[in-house]
Amino acid sequence: MKVGILGATGAVGQKFIRLLQGHPWFEITALGASERSAGKKYKQAANWIEDVAQPEYIAEMTVANCDPSEMSGVDFVFSGLDATVAGDIEKAFASAGIPVISNAKNYRQDPTVPLLVPEVNPDHIELIPTQTFTEDGSGWIVTNPNCVAVPLSIALKPIHDAFGIEALQVTTMQAISGAGYPGVASLDILGNVVPFIGGEEPKIAPETQKLLGSLSNGTITRPDYPVDATCTRVPTLNGHMAAVNVKLVKKPQSIDEVRSAVLSFKNPIAELDLPSAPKEVIKLHDEEKYPQPRLHADQEGGMQLHMGRLRSGVIFDVSFVCMAHNTIRGAAGGAILNAELLVKKGYLQ
Ligand code: NAP
Repeated sequence: MKVGILGATGAVGQKFIRLLQGHPWFEITALGASERSAGKKYKQAANWIEDVAQPEYIAEMTVANCDPSEMSGVDFVFSGLDATVAGDIEKAFASAGIPVISNAKNYRQDPTVPLLVPEVNPDHIELIPTQTFTEDGSGWIVTNPNCVAVPLSIALKPIHDAFGIEALQVTTMQAISGAGYPGVASLDILGNVVPFIGGEEPKIAPETQKLLGSLSNGTITRPDYPVDATCTRVPTLNGHMAAVNVKLVKKPQSIDEVRSAVLSFKNPIAELDLPSAPKEVIKLHDEEKYPQPRLHADQEGGMQLHMGRLRSGVIFDVSFVCMAHNTIRGAAGGAILNAELLVKKGYLQ
């Protein structure tokens, strides 16, 4: 399938380009960015920050404006657009009959738009036919969650299914690549921790609740647990870590019961053999010093969710840490997996 990338010059756009090299189903045929980049060759427009060489054919491609008429001939687009412009641009593509698989936040809470993590809520793609961007249904939008909501939702899924979540407390330690390029000033982050990330904390409740919600008759019914979140920026490169404390509706007899629920998680897409899917979705570490971003974020192509420090608490019923690669599992890789699921389910063809 021919794919375009919106926001191709940004941090997430570059990750799309890297991950799509040699993809068995998808071939990049169009690159879009702002008018600052449009008309230039990609190698001149992009400040390449990936640690592999820029693919030669990509380097020579001319960047287009993010306009459906300038990026025609694609079967669908991935979007790594800045949220200040993603709303209008993604709507324009969907309205032109071009499906959009987006990383941006703009449509995540639209009741007709799936907020999708294939291992958590694959059935939510059934919302797609309720969208009205085009009369014939050819144009639609699917989003993936914020880069912290991704590891949280995967880690919480088996726990929520077995016990129900009554209340959630989360403290994140987020890598600098999550801020895009140039991101956080070096003088702010080197040897330091910044205890606030603008706009991040308010996303955790609505995104995890939508992901863990159940779809029936075209409507998602969400669990409504309260969330206290503190999001911090730490001087790691890749891999967002979260320390999580959960109060459960149904009280487990022991922490072993929670451990069994996590270990027996049944991956709903395991049989689909999607090219980007990790073989083992949740890696539960027993060693108390694990997981660590530098050691584990890249495992299984950056698509694995790592959990550790699983224990019962005094105030909360269960505590753990979870971690996943933010620009792969939490952004471009997650979006590619979404597209693969949509191919297998016949929405993209
Ligand atoms: P970024 O590095 O700042 O890249 C932004 C991209 O948007 C660039 O390609 C830029 O093109 C393009 N753009 C900006 N203004 C535009 C306009 N007016 N018209 C068309 N294109 C325009 O940001 P990023 O970190 O890649 O993040 C991209 C999106 O993904 C954001 O919505 C972010 O919230 C989301 N996200 C990021 C992460 C992460 O870990 N970084 C994770 C999940 C989700 P120019 O180069 O031409 O300016």
